[in-house]
Amino acid sequence: MFEHVEPFAGDPILSLNEDFQKDSRPHRINLSIGIYFDDAGRIPVLDSVRRAEAKVVARNAPKPYLPIEGAANFREQVQALLFGAGHEALAGKRVATIQSVGSSGGLKVGADFIARWLPGSEVWVSDPSWENHRSMFEGAGLAVHSYPYYDPATGALSFEAMCDALRRIPAKSVVLIHACCHNPTGVDLSTAQWDALIPLLAERELLPYLDLAYQGFGTGLAEDAYAVRALAAARGKDGRPMSFAVANSFSKSMSLYGERCGALSVVCADAGEAVNVLGQLKFTVRRNYSSPPIHGGQIVAAVLGEPELRTAWEAELAAMRERIKAMRKVLHATLTAKMPARDFGYFLSQQGMFSYTGLDPRQVDRLREEFAVYLVRSGRLCVAGLNSGNVEATGLAMAAVLDG
Ligand code: PLP
Repeated sequence: MFEHVEPFAGDPILSLNEDFQKDSRPHRINLSIGIYFDDAGRIPVLDSVRRAEAKVVARNAPKPYLPIEGAANFREQVQALLFGAGHEALAGKRVATIQSVGSSGGLKVGADFIARWLPGSEVWVSDPSWENHRSMFEGAGLAVHSYPYYDPATGALSFEAMCDALRRIPAKSVVLIHACCHNPTGVDLSTAQWDALIPLLAERELLPYLDLAYQGFGTGLAEDAYAVRALAAARGKDGRPMSFAVANSFSKSMSLYGERCGALSVVCADAGEAVNVLGQLKFTVRRNYSSPPIHGGQIVAAVLGEPELRTAWEAELAAMRERIKAMRKVLHATLTAKMPARDFGYFLSQQGMFSYTGLDPRQVDRLREEFAVYLVRSGRLCVAGLNSGNVEATGLAMAAVLDG
């Protein structure tokens, strides 16, 4: 029956993480996986999240199936977090939101929805992008292409090339854009660039699909949702409110990776469309996994909805963001001291959990083999894996391989 089944090639990042676990060198440093570690190198349990969970557990509530679209309190809080409470799109009931199994689950439900309801549309992702984007959309039967994004010569955004490419793709194409803290490069659009891009997307009748996996890790919760709010306020070519989708995650911002908490929101031109879109998202969920899990979503809803927990969480998130920025500064200073002729300013202008280092695969291999420093072979470094005990060693090892 299964003789013909081929082996799974494995996920390159997860396999690298397994290699790291097997590495017995005591000074080994893991900067490959996309997880935030604290200064002691541990995955934090946020105090706000711990207290919210204690409240959820203390309720001793039964665990019925959730509705297909997820818990109402979770969905309301997510909408307010993304769009800002009282946003016109929310008041006008134009947003169809489902609670999803991580933002990955939301991205895939959205991809299935596009495959069914925009047949013939193809998807465009940034070059480079999070590897799984391509797999997910292809898994939904959609063709995937890429648009220029990262300029290796400057370590910055190729905005003109990006816009030029988007001017040429067919109407109704889906354009996947990282709303902030781009994975893997750390290179983001400025607000001025979003303001220039959105009319182009509208004019060309493209469907923006935002991935917001790192809200709060860039500049702040509202600032990092700039693209969501600007798109929600924009008008399409026909003068009606613009349609777009956004998948968001609490894996990183609440350090809740394994609870799989995320959502998919599809913003529609009017409330009637949103009812039908929500219905079709539910249909997709129903025939895949029926309904989302209850526990993690209730923790998220408590953190977002109870003012005291919310304030505490925002402070903890700000501390994570500031710690990453501090690590960027030390890495930049260490490298600049070793190689003063070289410009490492991109470590300071890139934001979020990742940076593209500019190291080639051979240099990444040397880092791992000679210095036990683990990066993804593309040269992606997880800045959130740096801490006061390993950042200088990392900078010195990087300088050594860049020099050789
Ligand atoms: N999108 C991006 C850009 C990511 O980096 C990740 C996780 O690394 C995800 C989505 C998926 O996150 P999750 O499914 O844990 O919400």
